[in-house]
Amino acid sequence: MPEPTTATPSQPVSRPRTVVVVGAGLAGAQTVAALRAHGFDGRVTLLGAEGVPPYDRPPLSKELLTRPGPVWLSEDLGVDVEALADDVRLAEPARALELGPDGVAVVTSRDRVEADAVVLAVGSVPVVPPGFDASALLHTAADAEALRSALRPGLRLVIVGAGWIGAELAGVAAGAGAEVTVLEAADAPLSRQLGREVGARLAGWYADAGVRLRTGAAVAAVDDTGVRLADGEHVPADLVLTAVGARPASGWLAGALPLDPRGALVVDADGRVPGHPRVWAVGDVASRAHPVFGTVPGGHWSAALHDPDPTVRALLGVEGAHGGGHAPYVFSQQLGHDLALLGLPAADSPVVLRGTPGEGPWAALYLDPADGAATDGVAGVRAVLLVDSPRDVGGVRRLMSRGEPLRLDLARALDPALRLKAAVADPA
Ligand SMILES: Cc1cc2nc3c(=O)[nH]c(=O)nc-3n(C[C@H](O)[C@H](O)[C@H](O)COP(=O)(O)OP(=O)(O)OC[C@H]3O[C@@H](n4cnc5c(N)ncnc54)[C@H](O)[C@@H]3O)c2cc1C
Repeated sequence: MPEPTTATPSQPVSRPRTVVVVGAGLAGAQTVAALRAHGFDGRVTLLGAEGVPPYDRPPLSKELLTRPGPVWLSEDLGVDVEALADDVRLAEPARALELGPDGVAVVTSRDRVEADAVVLAVGSVPVVPPGFDASALLHTAADAEALRSALRPGLRLVIVGAGWIGAELAGVAAGAGAEVTVLEAADAPLSRQLGREVGARLAGWYADAGVRLRTGAAVAAVDDTGVRLADGEHVPADLVLTAVGARPASGWLAGALPLDPRGALVVDADGRVPGHPRVWAVGDVASRAHPVFGTVPGGHWSAALHDPDPTVRALLGVEGAHGGGHAPYVFSQQLGHDLALLGLPAADSPVVLRGTPGEGPWAALYLDPADGAATDGVAGVRAVLLVDSPRDVGGVRRLMSRGEPLRLDLARALDPALRLKAAVADPA
C-alpha cells in the first residue's frame, strides 16, 4: 500500500504490472486500447463518472438531431473497454489521488484502487459562471438528450457564447425551427480561439443561417425567464444554454499534483507528469509539450485520440517511444461551413488571408510574431485555418506535423491557385 505523500522523487519506475486509468472518455478508452495493443497483460482498471460506456463528443452538437443517441466508441473505433480492461467501473468517479514511492492509490466514491501507475484522462467540464445555474449545458450525452427533447419549432433559445459549441448548436437549432439568439461578450465570434480579425469574418454566417448574433453582449445572470445583460437589459428566452468554454476536470487533484492556472496538468511530450514517475495524463486534462508548438493545451478531440499511444509506449518502456509528432488540430462544422485549425496560433500572431472570404474556400495563415507582419518574403507559420476546404486538411496537417517549424514563401502561399506545399521554403 503506498504511503500517501504529495511529492514523489523522480526516479525510473520498472514496467508496471497494474495500471488504473481514470476517465472513461475518448482518451481513457484509447489508453486502455493502447495498453493491450502494446502487449500489456497486467491488470487494467478503468474508472468513469457518467455511468455509460465511452462515446464520442463532437457529434453531440453537430449531429444533435440527426443521431439521436451516443456514438459509442466500441462501434466507432472498435474499442470495447469492457473486453479490454479487467475491471471497468463506469459510475465510480475518483475523489483523491495518493502517491507513494511504491505505487499510487486512487480513492473513489466507494473504494481505494491501488496500482503501479495511473493515467489521468478525466477530460474537462464546462465553465459555468456564477449566476448561470439556471442555464442548460451541452457537454455530455445526457445534456444532448435533454436538449433534443426541449428543441421545437418556435422555441426561443438563447445561447451564451459564440465559440465552437455555441456556433455549432446555433446552426442546428435554427435549422430545426428554433428562434436562436447568440450573445457574445467579445466583439466577434471565436475571437479567443481565432483572433478578432478572423472571428469578424465569420459573423455574417449567423444571419445567413437564420441566427441572431449580438456581440459585445455580456451576460450577467440567467434565470427561468431568460438572461440579464450587464447593462441591465433583459433578453427573454424559453431556454438558455451556456457555452463559454471548458476547463480541466482536475479539482479533485488539487494538492496532490501541480496544476497550471487553468487547472491543467502540464506534461512532457510523452504525457509524463514531471517529478511523478507513476503519473501520466492525456486528453483534455493535459497541457502537453510539443517540439514545435511549445505547450499545447488540451481540449481537442485529435489529441485525445492520438496522444494515448505514445504515452502508453513511454509508460511501458516500448522501444521507439516518442511523443508530440502531430500538430494540434481542431475541426468544426458550423452554420453551414467547415473549419479546420491546424497548429497553434500565438496570441499576437499576425494574420494573412489566402483567398477571399465570402467567395468560396479561403484560409488564414497565423504567422510567427517574431517575423513581423510581412506579407511577402519567407515567414514562419504557427497555424493555418482552413475554411470550407476539407480536402486540403490532410495535406496541411502533414505540412504542420513534420516536426519542424513551417516556413512559407508568402507570395506563393497567398496565391490560392497554388498548393500550400508548393510554398514551403528551404530551412533557414
Ligand atoms: C459538444 C462537444 C462538441 C465537440 N466538438 C469538437 C470538435 O468538433 N472538434 C474537436 O477537436 N473537439 C471537439 N470537442 C472536444 C472533444 O470532444 C474533447 O477534446 C475530447 O472529448 C476529449 O477527450 P477526453 O477523453 O480527454 O475527455 P472527455 O471526453 O471529457 O472524457 C473524460 C471522461 O472522464 C470522466 N471523469 C471526469 N472526472 C472524473 C473522475 N474524477 N473520475 C472518473 N471519471 C471522471 C468524465 O465524466 C468523462 O466521461 C467537443 C466537445 C463537446 C462537449
